[in-house]
Amino acid sequence: MPEFKVVESPLLVLGGEMDKKIVKLVTERSQGYCEVCGLPGESMALHHRKLKSRGGKDCASNLIAVHHQCHNLASDSIHLNPAMAEQNGWMVGSWQEPHEVPMKRPDGSVVLLQKDGSVIFLERT
Ligand SMILES: [Zn+2]
Repeated sequence: MPEFKVVESPLLVLGGEMDKKIVKLVTERSQGYCEVCGLPGESMALHHRKLKSRGGKDCASNLIAVHHQCHNLASDSIHLNPAMAEQNGWMVGSWQEPHEVPMKRPDGSVVLLQKDGSVIFLERT
């Protein structure tokens, strides 16, 4: 899992080999806020909604910027509570396309993440 640190928002320095253009799209979308809990963060992980092991790609519809806590450290994090993560669209199946799977955002909105970094709003609560 590539990791990156916020150096001077929105610039990021990558720990991995991910395409900088993709990282930029995700960074611009997330604006330094965790896409799971909604709080700002200094050091974020890029989570593959469709895991690389399931054929997931490095693209803005498949990547969300999340705290390390929210990624795989906290008991209710994506990787430690995959059922919840799937319910919220933070984890998608190998048979699904990430840009077609609704994802819940911290503000209660439900969106489709697009490959160009934009989002399509489905509903707001
Ligand atoms: Zn978080």
